[in-house]
Amino acid sequence: MVFSTVMDLQSIDTNAFAPVLTVLGYAAIAAGFASFGVLPLIGRRQGSSVLLGLANSLAAGLMLGAAYALMVVDPDGLPPVSAIAAMLGIMYVLFTHWAIGTTELDLNRLDETDPTYGYKVLLINTLHGAAEGVAIGVAMIVSIPFGTFVVVAIAVHNIPEGTVLSAILASLGARIRDAAALAIAANIGQVLLAVATFAIVSAAPEVLPWAAGFAIGALIYLVMAELLPEGYREVGHTSVALVAIVAMGMVVVLTGLSL
Ligand SMILES: [Zn+2]
Repeated sequence: MVFSTVMDLQSIDTNAFAPVLTVLGYAAIAAGFASFGVLPLIGRRQGSSVLLGLANSLAAGLMLGAAYALMVVDPDGLPPVSAIAAMLGIMYVLFTHWAIGTTELDLNRLDETDPTYGYKVLLINTLHGAAEGVAIGVAMIVSIPFGTFVVVAIAVHNIPEGTVLSAILASLGARIRDAAALAIAANIGQVLLAVATFAIVSAAPEVLPWAAGFAIGALIYLVMAELLPEGYREVGHTSVALVAIVAMGMVVVLTGLSL
């Protein structure tokens, strides 16, 4: 009797926590990928603006691909509620920029002397990563293979973002090692939101279209308002378009294979 109770408890624990731990582990690995972003900076005194422009374009393409994957995942299409949720996702990004006073902040400056610039860029990256965390949580609910695929897309996207962030932090005097650690730290919100979204939608599946719509709206807005404009500022229009489209195309093709 006692034995079987212990067995029951064990099976309950495993069923309840194993998927959450999987999401936690995958999201943490994706966050860790941001640290690889410092690799192009090693041995240089400063990142080049061309590198930042291309990194932003690559991040933009991968993010558009991830948004596309979330849109097509349901063969019945997205319910109308997702459109409202997408607007909430856009408003989330707008509101956070407004609240911390960074609406028109140039996120690529390598010659900035304002001592608050580094904090603002870190904060922006953290809030931006939180929206991606919702995308990871939603994708993991859909299925583990699809979730794994979206995690990989966002993990790869975190690398060029890590390059941009750590180049800015290095230009403000941070050591490369510290810049790498801060690039990971900026994605802690991504990990937390991935786990929270997964747990909430597991408990209340009716929230799924809301969470999916929110993530799609926030991701596309971030691409339009942050990643692409930063890319266009640093490198030619053709380079930005080609890098972003090829990256997006690869995610789109792989989405078909993962579903
Ligand atoms: Zn991102």
